[in-house]
Amino acid sequence: MWIGIDDTDSSEGMCTTFLVPEIIYSLGHDLIGFPRLVRLNPNIPWKTRGNAAVAIRIGKGYGKSRKVGEFRGKEIISYEKGKEIDDVGLLEKVMNIVERYAVLEDKKTSPGIIISKKKLDESIYWRAVRSVVYLKDIKIHIKDARYFGYKGGRGLIGAAAAIAWKPREKTYELIAYLPEDRWLHERFVDEDSVIEMDKNVKTTFENYDYRNRHVAIKPETRTPVLFGIRGKVPEDLERARLMVRSDPYIGYIIFETNQGTDDHLVRKKISEISPYDSVIVSGRVDSYPRVISGGHVIFRISDDSGSIDCAAYEKTREFREIVKSLVPGDMVTVFGSVKKYPGTINIEKMRVDSLADIYEKEIPRCPSCGRKMESAGNGKGYRCRRCGTFVKEIKYVKVEREIEKGFYQVPVIARRHLSKPIEFFQE
Ligand code: ATP
Repeated sequence: MWIGIDDTDSSEGMCTTFLVPEIIYSLGHDLIGFPRLVRLNPNIPWKTRGNAAVAIRIGKGYGKSRKVGEFRGKEIISYEKGKEIDDVGLLEKVMNIVERYAVLEDKKTSPGIIISKKKLDESIYWRAVRSVVYLKDIKIHIKDARYFGYKGGRGLIGAAAAIAWKPREKTYELIAYLPEDRWLHERFVDEDSVIEMDKNVKTTFENYDYRNRHVAIKPETRTPVLFGIRGKVPEDLERARLMVRSDPYIGYIIFETNQGTDDHLVRKKISEISPYDSVIVSGRVDSYPRVISGGHVIFRISDDSGSIDCAAYEKTREFREIVKSLVPGDMVTVFGSVKKYPGTINIEKMRVDSLADIYEKEIPRCPSCGRKMESAGNGKGYRCRRCGTFVKEIKYVKVEREIEKGFYQVPVIARRHLSKPIEFFQE
């Protein structure tokens, strides 16, 4: 039996992922496979933060088993396989738990719960991670399932997509949770221990931003989450967790996720870009990058179908310096997302495919006395101030470019959940 949930939180508190260990703990059924934390279209304007939805599969477990977490003093065990269970009151039990924690008083919160015997159609996931989906379309797919949507039930979209996800690629995230009375307080995660963990457990990623001295595993907002460690190997996440010194927590659980997979990106021509798309676009740099108010850096690219602005926003910090060294004629592939029409691509990463040759005038030395010559006026050659020698010919030299071909990405502090780190391309 699949359970999918979304849209239970507000920007002030809660986190839908917290419901996963709570439900597993309270229901007493076996967990089959890993719980899923599925990120959806990052450009959806009505998302609270990272557009995350969750799903679990429960049943009577058999086959290989493994520990995937601990919660309120109990181990969370996941089975490789499971037999179907018949729990007629399951939806009501899940609703009770959701109602206990969901921030229903928040205007924007619109929870959705789906209980489905069948795995839902994979296409729901791809549409939800790449475009805008309407609730009426989702309802067609869940007519055989039991479901409940609160306050409009927009969360059913994410809940369905989390069940529908069929990983093409995946990563894992171990999330540790604070006790409820600490959710709205300042929390402590020791920076040095995170650096040590980052250096020792090589299969983890995006733990720490060295240049900006930012502990990325600790959320910025006050939520039940104390820290979340991302990695490629679940067993290594256990080892990583034990290295992190922090406030005490009531439990942790390892999710399989679509984070770091680039699942949101679609290769497009510029003319094909629609609002809320995330795209991969190749083009020629048309304008010198310019800094606009707020410190954002903008440049324009074109392909044979049109042209579009690309932006490295202020929060991408040192990445803007790389962007600033582009010149017209460079060929780039930009990976990023668009909010509204006509749109600007908000760059997540960029590949410089070829560099334009740029030349500058060489100031010659005087052929008679060796002194550096001076310009005799625009296009008129050079004159030596000391001996009066005149040279008509203007020579150009190729300028060494500050940027090289290859991949560049925004720093960890500005990284999007779904963005695949460029290190993954190089493995
Ligand atoms: P958090 O990351 O803290 O869990 P959130 O950013 O996931 O919060 P939600 O509160 O879940 O934000 O709001 C996102 C809402 O958008 C949900 O109701 C979800 O069903 C819906 N949604 C997600 N993807 C799409 C999509 N592609 N089209 C339309 N609606 C979507």
